[in-house]
Amino acid sequence: MKLLEERIRKDGVIKEGGVVKVDNFLNHQMDIRLFNEMGKEWKRLFVDKPINKILTIEASGIGIAAIAAQYFDVPVVFAKKTQSINLDGEVYSTKIQSFTHGRVYDVIVSKKYISAEDHILIIDDFLANGCALLGLIDLVEAAGATVEGIGIAIEKGFQPGGGLIREKGYHLESLAIIDRIQKETNELIFRQNCTK
Ligand code: 5GP
Repeated sequence: MKLLEERIRKDGVIKEGGVVKVDNFLNHQMDIRLFNEMGKEWKRLFVDKPINKILTIEASGIGIAAIAAQYFDVPVVFAKKTQSINLDGEVYSTKIQSFTHGRVYDVIVSKKYISAEDHILIIDDFLANGCALLGLIDLVEAAGATVEGIGIAIEKGFQPGGGLIREKGYHLESLAIIDRIQKETNELIFRQNCTK
């Protein structure tokens, strides 16, 4: 998606370890006009899927998922990161290793909000090693629900998550894929794809 690529080029800050900071428009301050365009694009890409719910993970997924949900006219559920798992059987839980902090979190969703009848679109801000997505897929499948698709804002194509998820056969649509970071100039090289 050209608009997102241009914005990452303009405002993205490249950090050590292949971390791209996009606090100016996505992870801290949020550009809602841009989020609307992203929502429309995901709707176009998943138009033929019977999606009745969007699942994301706190915190940075919530804003983009909430705006996108308006184009699908469905509710958003966000998985919660927690330190104390409630073991009363009322939640689905999984463990996710954080890319940015290295820590392992327990992540939960109440059984009230995902069930076997659900057809789910998973949305998240970044895809790097794929741990967050694999955890979210785990939660959906534990509920017997169907993963209809996965929408990512920024995939880092130089990390293994995208390949891993596509190999498993999921319909993954990343709006911008950074293939590499040119070391000398700090320039971001995006993958050419067929999204607008
Ligand atoms: P993964 O689990 O795929 O390794 O990483 C995905 C998660 O880590 C995302 O939910 C995102 O919050 C965070 N993340 C991964 N790479 C980056 C990055 O380059 N920049 C930012 N801001 N977050 C990232």
